[in-house]
Amino acid sequence: MFVTMPAPVGAIANNRRREWEDREWFPPGPQLAICLSGEKNRLDDLTDEELLQVAAAARRQTSWAQARELAAIAELTRRRTADEDSDDTDHRILSGRESVTEEVAAALTVTSNTAANLVHLAERLTGPLAETGEALGAGRLDMAKARVICDVTDRLPEEVAGRVERAALETASGQTTGQLRRRIRRIAQRLAPEAVEERRREATRLRRLELWDTPSGTSDLALCDLAAEDAHAIFNKITAAAHGIQADGDTRPLNTIRADLAAQLLHGVELPEAIRALLTETRDDSAKDGSVGDGDVAPFAPVVAPSGGGDDLRTGAGGACDEFSGDTDIAALANEVERRLRHVQGRVPPRELPHAVRQTAQRIHSQFSEARDAACRGDEEGHGRPGYRPPAAMRREVEARHSTCVFPTCNQPSHRCDLDHTVPWRPGITCRCNLAPLCRRHHRLKQRKDWRLFQIWAGLLIWVTPSGAWYLVRPERR
Ligand SMILES: [Zn+2]
Ligand SMILES: [Zn+2]
Repeated sequence: MFVTMPAPVGAIANNRRREWEDREWFPPGPQLAICLSGEKNRLDDLTDEELLQVAAAARRQTSWAQARELAAIAELTRRRTADEDSDDTDHRILSGRESVTEEVAAALTVTSNTAANLVHLAERLTGPLAETGEALGAGRLDMAKARVICDVTDRLPEEVAGRVERAALETASGQTTGQLRRRIRRIAQRLAPEAVEERRREATRLRRLELWDTPSGTSDLALCDLAAEDAHAIFNKITAAAHGIQADGDTRPLNTIRADLAAQLLHGVELPEAIRALLTETRDDSAKDGSVGDGDVAPFAPVVAPSGGGDDLRTGAGGACDEFSGDTDIAALANEVERRLRHVQGRVPPRELPHAVRQTAQRIHSQFSEARDAACRGDEEGHGRPGYRPPAAMRREVEARHSTCVFPTCNQPSHRCDLDHTVPWRPGITCRCNLAPLCRRHHRLKQRKDWRLFQIWAGLLIWVTPSGAWYLVRPERR
């Protein structure tokens, strides 16, 4: 929505023709931004045609801004990878390129995957696909189409990629992403059939079963990067069986029958048996008409979802009052830490910022050292256990504190993470005030010299990135 002050109607009536007239291709940039904002653009006063022009202009402006976003990411990537010695790779430590991906993920609040795609797109659109990058910046195509060009030309021989790109740019502005993709895929296939086939084979090597939870509380289960003929054969087979079930009187939508049938088959039920079970189930349902019975036919009852970590916390820890006051202390502490870190920003030259932020975080960590140990000792469980590996109860407590890896944008469940000693373990004790779940990737990120992780209080952590950005990670409160 445009938030604007109402302007005198006369002024708008006089100005608006000049505003959009003959400006269908007003190029994106600061001036278009001015046209798109401000009181002259009260949408109420524009004609239908003008409204569409405003929409198109705003989209061009978006493309322009996205080209800037990618250019900035490309420049940061260049800086971070420029002095990296590729012969000297240590697999325990994340590479410069992967590290910059994590910086981008944290700064833009996107997943590592999204950030990796952005870094890849940024490098290509400022390198081999510079013309596409320019077209994006000029608003001649949008980010989705730039992605299509990047995807289709990926790993093609340079000369072929160039020809495909030129062909794409000729028609991209007048085609949807689907039309564009189909057209340039055909061109790539014709120019470099071996390369296209090799890429396909490589993609199928990455075939996998994926699972993710949806906002509606269900889960999606997907087989990804199967060979196309395989996937189509499976789909056709299930569809044919589902049609058969419908013909036998199942009135439910085809999609539902297909999903149930596929689920049965994945549960290991033979196809004829699965079909029988589905038909029986439908008849039972219509007979019971919605009553919730025990149901003697329940061949694929959903697996009970694991309860959240919060339950462990509630049963495992002391009284609710203690927890509450603990939370309040942590919140106050977090605010104080935040205040001090902010204080550093703007007070030192940009070049010195990373060092200054690291130092401040380090100082805060040292300053709270005694209080931290004392608080830990004051707790029923006490401070520390001998040895490197945390005992099971401590592990549960740390996992309940953070249900995922403690990198700000990571979703890896903590039970699948390592419990990392924030300050590296030296022979002595292991304690929850120095443990946090880190997935493999972010464990390797933490090993880099240009990243820092501090645990100020049990469960309260600070990440400091190579650029001196910092992120506070708090314990989850239930
Ligand atoms: Zn402790
Ligand atoms: Zn992680």
